[in-house]
Amino acid sequence: MRTVINVSNRLPVTIGPEITPSSGGLVSAMENLGAKVQLKWIGWAGGHITDPAEKEHVIEELKKRFNYFPIFLDDDDASDYYDGFSNSTMWPLLHYMNTYSRYRIQWYEAYQRVNRIFAEEVMAHAGPDDMVWVHDYHLMLLPRILHEQRPDLKIGIFLHTPFPPSDIFRCHPNREDLLLGLLGADLIGFQTFGYLRHFRTTVLRVLGIESEMDRIAHDQYTTALGVYPIGINVEKFKQEIQSASFARRLAEYRQVYSGKRVVLGVERLDYTKGIPHRLDAIERFLGQRQDRDDIVFIFISVPSREDVAAYQTLLEQVRGRISQINGKYSTIKNVPLRFMHRSVSFSQLCALYALADVCMVTPLVDGMNLVAKEYAYCQTENKGVLILSEFAGTAQELPDAMIINPYHVGQMAECLQEALTMSDEEKIQRMASMRARVMRFDATHWADAFLADLEACKGKAALPTDVPTISMKDVTELVAASRAALFLDYDGTLSELRKKPMEAFPKGDIETLFDNLMSDTGLDVYIISGRSQKDMLRWFGRYDFALVSEHGFSYRLSPQEDWVLSDPTANLSWMDKIIEIFNHYADMTPGSAVEVKRASVVWHYRESDPEFGVWKANQLVADLSEMVSNLPVKINHGKKIVEASSMQINKGSMMTALMERRSYDKALCAGDDDTDENMFRVAGERVISIKVGEGSTAARFRSPDPQAFRNFLEALVEARRRRAQ
Ligand code: UDP
Repeated sequence: MRTVINVSNRLPVTIGPEITPSSGGLVSAMENLGAKVQLKWIGWAGGHITDPAEKEHVIEELKKRFNYFPIFLDDDDASDYYDGFSNSTMWPLLHYMNTYSRYRIQWYEAYQRVNRIFAEEVMAHAGPDDMVWVHDYHLMLLPRILHEQRPDLKIGIFLHTPFPPSDIFRCHPNREDLLLGLLGADLIGFQTFGYLRHFRTTVLRVLGIESEMDRIAHDQYTTALGVYPIGINVEKFKQEIQSASFARRLAEYRQVYSGKRVVLGVERLDYTKGIPHRLDAIERFLGQRQDRDDIVFIFISVPSREDVAAYQTLLEQVRGRISQINGKYSTIKNVPLRFMHRSVSFSQLCALYALADVCMVTPLVDGMNLVAKEYAYCQTENKGVLILSEFAGTAQELPDAMIINPYHVGQMAECLQEALTMSDEEKIQRMASMRARVMRFDATHWADAFLADLEACKGKAALPTDVPTISMKDVTELVAASRAALFLDYDGTLSELRKKPMEAFPKGDIETLFDNLMSDTGLDVYIISGRSQKDMLRWFGRYDFALVSEHGFSYRLSPQEDWVLSDPTANLSWMDKIIEIFNHYADMTPGSAVEVKRASVVWHYRESDPEFGVWKANQLVADLSEMVSNLPVKINHGKKIVEASSMQINKGSMMTALMERRSYDKALCAGDDDTDENMFRVAGERVISIKVGEGSTAARFRSPDPQAFRNFLEALVEARRRRAQ
């Protein structure tokens, strides 16, 4: 049976004189998985247990009774990691409210420390190939730490919160670390598709990593992305509403509120929940109503994060507004607003859900919002109306609710009026469809779906397996050959692609490799690149290599010889016209630039806005394809470039010509993009072809990236040297 290690900020227990398990969607979802997986749960124990004997006792009890493994934090770490970084920095930022976001470097340091403590604990309990399921924004760095140390584990993380648009997330001082932390996972789950979309754009804009809808390939492995809207613990609600105690309580509430219409709001007292906006709407509604004796608004405001200043301010504000509205609209017979700043028991909550004529769920942003689903479930007679903010994740799932914009106070007030006068027929029709969905997609369904996808994740190797990875055993003939050559592309093959093309000059281990290639290995080296003669001379002039510029337009066989045109008859009359169009696109696309070479023109857009750049590049390619249909020009849309070059010239025909001229026994060619495919296509038996990086290819072998390819060449040099001795 698979072991799943569930990791959340808090363990679902309260540790006092006794250990009391707490309930909630996550607990029930995990419990119901029971038979299918073996579950271990790691999380912060909460509280301040310092006595070693007491700690030992808690550890043993939790393991014995629940298979839980507690983490203990000292008071400073707990406060900086939890109240500080998690709740005062990340929570508002993830809820698009970066003006509420406070930041202190020591909070982040504590967050890093605590994420590492969690990682240690996970690693202490994780057997080979176990699955690890991490929950939420408290542990965003954890997937990467785990992945680096235990690549055998399958790691998933689910974000229970929203994920904001990139312009908000990028305000965070540690944005790169947080994103890379998440990308350590094999699977990242979101509540809605909108959050997934925001995440992809943020990864593109902050890290420059492109992605597909359902996955992000990076650093030789792939992180899958998925949408899993969390559901409620249907079983628990079902048992409650079938109980006798529930029936008694509901009857009691019906009596207390007899003759009144009840409008309910339930939430943690949090600035994301839109309580002040709702109060404005209620005030407007009451102002427009003649009879104010027959309506009550019940606010269950569960105290939350009371140590955080923003929550204290909100409480003051809400209390003030409520007494103001009550002062204005109370009658001798009725006080319209009933505010409870405390939690209620589960049976009270269910009875209130069943009682309420209307439930107002009006957050300004909310990852999902379970209250909306719980209300729908408890409305067994389908006579209630749900007013639901379009900015709650739940709105995606429950379009039959009355969907409102919580910032539009007038609309909310009108909607309230409509809800209270809606026909039974309409209410039943709307509510029945919502209940059906809530019942079907419950918490267990959610956990099952996430874990099934995590199980199915392909693991770390993103490289297609159609082409084998090159190894030394594939080049024994090349090692042994007396006349042998290497045809090597440079950018993206020998050197990593750089943001600015001029930053790719050979240095560090590339220089060492070049020096080694020159030292009597008996290999002829051709650097065969799209770059201009000038660039190539500047960068490779000091090596004893043959240089081929502009994909084969001209070449220089040794430092002692002159550059030669490979085809002096090539027609270049098209260039002026193309340059004009490229310049026009460069003007329209900030950050892009045109490079004019001898037989080709390149438009670089690596430094443009990534989405705008791709859009303009596609447009340019479309414009060009019409224009060049009668010209001897080929268009290549490469990695952040569009290039127009002469059709009469390509790396493949150049390599063939050079092979014949020097009659090599064996050769190797390597490259990373479409222009190199011309070499791969003509490679034949004598030439070993290697594609560096991802993507479909005609090459026989693949090397994962430039670093791996350089390592391979070093090994080849070594083998040639040994052979020579
Ligand atoms: N809830 C509670 N005690 C109460 C009132 C509500 O435990 O007195 C529960 C409620 O049943 C719901 C949860 O608190 O499951 C609130 O979840 P939601 O997704 O709506 O918002 P969150 O608090 O996670 O932002």
